[in-house]
Amino acid sequence: MSARSSGDSLDSAASVNGVAIIGAGPAGLSALHQLLTSSQSLKIEMIDSQVRIGGQYWRHQEGSEFPAIDFDPRKNSAQSHEITWHLASTVWQIEKLEGGFRIHLASNVGDVTSSVEVEKIIIATGASERTLPFKNWTAPGVMSAGALQSLAKEYQVIPGKRICIVGSGVFAMPVAKSIKETAKKMGTEVEVTIIEAQSMTRWWRNSLAFLLNPSKIFEACGFLIFMKVNGVKRISKRMVRGVKIEAGGIVGLNVARVRSDLRPERGVEFLPGDLVATSFGFIPDMTLASILGLERRELSGDVVVVVNANQRTSIDGIWAAGEITGIGGHELAITEGAIAARDLLQRRSPLLKWRRVRQRLFTRGLTKIYPVSNRWVESLDDADIVCRCEEVTAGEIKESAHQLGADSARTAKLFTRAGMGLCQGRICQRNVKEIIDFVRSDGKSASDPNRETVRPIGGVVTLGGLSD
Ligand SMILES: Cc1cc2nc3c(=O)[nH]c(=O)nc-3n(C[C@H](O)[C@H](O)[C@H](O)COP(=O)(O)OP(=O)(O)OC[C@H]3O[C@@H](n4cnc5c(N)ncnc54)[C@H](O)[C@@H]3O)c2cc1C
Repeated sequence: MSARSSGDSLDSAASVNGVAIIGAGPAGLSALHQLLTSSQSLKIEMIDSQVRIGGQYWRHQEGSEFPAIDFDPRKNSAQSHEITWHLASTVWQIEKLEGGFRIHLASNVGDVTSSVEVEKIIIATGASERTLPFKNWTAPGVMSAGALQSLAKEYQVIPGKRICIVGSGVFAMPVAKSIKETAKKMGTEVEVTIIEAQSMTRWWRNSLAFLLNPSKIFEACGFLIFMKVNGVKRISKRMVRGVKIEAGGIVGLNVARVRSDLRPERGVEFLPGDLVATSFGFIPDMTLASILGLERRELSGDVVVVVNANQRTSIDGIWAAGEITGIGGHELAITEGAIAARDLLQRRSPLLKWRRVRQRLFTRGLTKIYPVSNRWVESLDDADIVCRCEEVTAGEIKESAHQLGADSARTAKLFTRAGMGLCQGRICQRNVKEIIDFVRSDGKSASDPNRETVRPIGGVVTLGGLSD
């Protein structure tokens, strides 16, 4: 495809034909926004496994406008560009070709597979929520905080009367807000309690990052005022030890006081409640990164894609942006998506890079305030389930390390089946790794970020689809 004449000499120097953006969340949409400003005619494949665009952050957005990037992707399909939307389509494999890539898609509706060929790819596949195991965490009435938020915001369902959000991190606050707002709209009463492992006084540790990101000060104050006005209770320095069930329903939970490294102290308290939501941060989705063999590294305990200053990955023609390069929130994802797309168009982004520095500083600060050290393992009983798909207990995983010599989540999986079930370790792999790290005498697993998460097929695809 020929480049058009343009006032931007760098832009016209780029030769791009066929770009795929995988993930239509904040990072992917921001990248698309930038690509559409190009004076070249671009052929863009927008791919997302969800039916609606917006990713985790804007999934509940009414209509198709995305305020933070001031952009309506559907209306902005400028005539000079050809955008093909592949929604409800999961990328399950990517092949490297001479000068490009073949992306294999499986439609989530029916048994339909297809493929597209492109020269460049921007991967923005985001993250999933992290939950830690405890007694009865697999019982009905225990769910992730994101699922609770989705029920409230998307479906106007409040699944309990006394809701406890347990975990560590700032995500509990928007969830509590969504619950209260939805309940108000529906005219129902709901009690919400946040049970947070860390103390709020630790926020001073991020004061420089707050000063560099003043909008965050207002955002934080807004949440605190909302919680106060709406009666959201907050209990600090406590971790859930188990959920108590009577006559098939949740009646409350046992919590223990913990130190900042999550080491439990003696004794447990009982708190009444009929629904428990968990929120222990997010885990970057390395599925496609591992299929492609992109270089990965550990960052604050997460495995993330290695990128350079322009969001380029270790493979030529592939950029990565958003949560897969490190958990950082939707604003950082937007900035990274824009930098990636601008670099693809051979444009420079000095201001965006400075914004990224500020935003990264803020989110790295948050991980210091809310660390999830592997001392949480001390709260586990041997009978507690860790891998819910294969029903593997904490005791079995510890035994695989003590008796059989398992030294990573991967070897523990081979001995115990933890991570071999339907979710393919997306929920438990990180927890299994931390149990192994914790029980090994040297405190370190032999995990290699470049091997640990490799799955050759990155999504559900039928045999019929595979044979096409
Ligand atoms: C459950 C949940 C709730 C959240 N709620 C809030 C909130 O209330 N407030 C807040 O500030 N932050 C929230 N966050 C964090 C926020 O959503 C993220 O910071 C932000 O969305 C990151 O943007 P992203 O573009 O990197 O990833 P995402 O928004 O996660 O977008 C990634 C997209 O990639 C798609 N995808 C992944 N794999 C494939 C594949 N193989 N094929 C095709 N498509 C694929 C996904 O469907 C998704 O739409 C939440 C996160 C989660 C997980």
